[in-house]
Amino acid sequence: MTANLRPIMSVVKSPFAHDTEMALLGTAALVNTAGRAGERLGDIAELDRFAEQWRWTGSRRYDAPELDSVRSLRPVLRRFWEADADAIVKQVNAILREARALPQLVRHDGWDWHMHATSPETPLVDRMAVEAAMAMIDVVRQGELHRLQVCEAEDCGDVLVDLSRNSSRRYCSTTCANRVNMAAFRRRHNLG
Ligand SMILES: [Zn+2]
Ligand SMILES: [Zn+2]
Repeated sequence: MTANLRPIMSVVKSPFAHDTEMALLGTAALVNTAGRAGERLGDIAELDRFAEQWRWTGSRRYDAPELDSVRSLRPVLRRFWEADADAIVKQVNAILREARALPQLVRHDGWDWHMHATSPETPLVDRMAVEAAMAMIDVVRQGELHRLQVCEAEDCGDVLVDLSRNSSRRYCSTTCANRVNMAAFRRRHNLG
C-alpha cells in the first residue's frame, strides 16, 4: 500500500518544477546505465532506446563517437551525487560555460513551456550535460542537495533522486529495498 502511494506522493510533494524533476531522474537513469546492472549503453541501439525512453528529441549522430561521448559523461554527472557543494557548483558552471548555455523558454512535442539552454542541433552529449547542470542550479539554489543519494543497499551503488516529502528514500529501486528487507529477515530468523 505504502509502496504504491509513493510515486503519487513524490509527484505532489517534490520541491522542484516538473522539468527539473524529469531532468534529475533522467540524469540518474543515465548515470545508472553504468551501474549495478552492468553496461546498459553497450551499443548504439541501447543508446537509441535510452534516448527514446527519456524523450531526447534533438539531433543525433547514431555513431560510435556519440555513444562514447555519452558513456564518458556518466562519471562526470555522477559527481553531482558524490562531490561536495563547492565542487558541484564548479562543475555546473564549467558545463554551462563550455557549452555556452543560453536559457530559453520553449514548447515542443506536446511539452508545455520549459527551459532549454541548448539548441536541438547541439550534440546529444552536450545537451545531456547542460540539462543536468540546469537542473542542478535548482537543486543547489533550493538547498536540496541531500535529495541526490547513493543507494544504501550493499553492492549496489546506483544513484537515486529522493523526491519524497520527508527525504526518506534510501534505495534506488524496489528490487534493492526488497533485497535489503529479505536479508534483514533472514538475519533475524537465523536463516543464514
Ligand atoms: Zn524540451
Ligand atoms: Zn540499489
